[in-house]
Amino acid sequence: MTEPVLPINREVKDLEADKLLGFQMSVAGIEGITFLTFGEPGFDTPTVVKEATKAAIDGNRSHYGNSQGEPAVRQAVLDYMKDRYDLDYPGIENVVITLGVTEAMQAIFKTLLQRGDGLLIPEPAYGSYFASLSLAGGVAVSVDTTNNGFKLTPALVDEAVAKATVPVRAVLLNYPSNPTGVTYTEAEITALAACFKKHGIWVISDEIYSELTYEQEHFSIGKLLPEQSLVVNGLSKSHAMTGYRLGFILGSADVIQYVQKVHGSLTYSAPTFIEDGAVAALKMSRQDLQYMTDSYEERRDFSRQALEELGFDVVDPEGAFYLFAKIPADFGTDGWAFAEKLAHEGKVAVIPRAAFSHFEDANQYIRISYAASQEQLTEGFAKLKAYVEKAR
Ligand code: PLP
Repeated sequence: MTEPVLPINREVKDLEADKLLGFQMSVAGIEGITFLTFGEPGFDTPTVVKEATKAAIDGNRSHYGNSQGEPAVRQAVLDYMKDRYDLDYPGIENVVITLGVTEAMQAIFKTLLQRGDGLLIPEPAYGSYFASLSLAGGVAVSVDTTNNGFKLTPALVDEAVAKATVPVRAVLLNYPSNPTGVTYTEAEITALAACFKKHGIWVISDEIYSELTYEQEHFSIGKLLPEQSLVVNGLSKSHAMTGYRLGFILGSADVIQYVQKVHGSLTYSAPTFIEDGAVAALKMSRQDLQYMTDSYEERRDFSRQALEELGFDVVDPEGAFYLFAKIPADFGTDGWAFAEKLAHEGKVAVIPRAAFSHFEDANQYIRISYAASQEQLTEGFAKLKAYVEKAR
């Protein structure tokens, strides 16, 4: 790539590249490759949502709306979060509507962190957090959770806070997790909440996969620490609406007013006609969307079995639509090299763990997304089997 003729902000030039996207791009040109990499629901957006959005466009809902989110959609968020997770926020002043979780994170990091402040991040973690964090001037205080079943524990928090070389102002949770598929029980969240309270740190909780749990109900930390947490969620995954770019943040009105200041300056508001579509989405019942969860569960079981039969050690997949698996010992310990060879020779793309972590020494893992259609999964796993059997 050529350099621009005039200078560019060095902080932007130094931004950590999104390794996940980088890996996908690097294998995208391989002919006949099957992607088991996308965090993209293999479903169309529900018809009622499309109809409501179209009606909004036809009704000329094309003007500036309320910057914090139209009152109707903020109310729908409150009702939805009460219905699904029994969260009791007092009113629409407790909600900001954002352009997905992605923008929500930028607004929150900017609000809570001063330049040089630390954000505790249990790793492996969703890669796009890192660039958003450095754009906001924050510093990652990374905690490796590999030896704790990929979960943060109060002991790990105590240790990280004690050892950190920067003031730790906040912690970032993401459960169910991308990339590991693990989630926390109510008891685990209760213990963590007490620990965060003790340390007096903000909790930023990315719960975008909360509707995709298979064995247990999701328990939001917002129930325990409403004043000290910002709960982030959205419609991308649960409602197959990634392209609509609709997310939301819930917190105490005291902090939400500041998050809103940042959100207002970043984007002014979410598009009004998308917000109308979102109201229709939020009014759908869990039953209305069950067909997706049921299908993911079937795909998960199929994919897990296929991997285990080939000797991969799969982390118990409790939620989201990812499998995190240790590559068999006879394929070495370098997940990145494994994924590259698999892409070039086996024609299947999976994501190496290094795309989600700063820790080099626990790199023997790959992430597979089972959000792909059943046909893609069948094809992808057949290719993986052929590759593994030939390479052995
Ligand atoms: N958070 C996590 C953990 C994700 O995996 C993703 C997408 O893959 C996002 C956020 C992005 O969400 P949104 O589409 O709402 O910006």
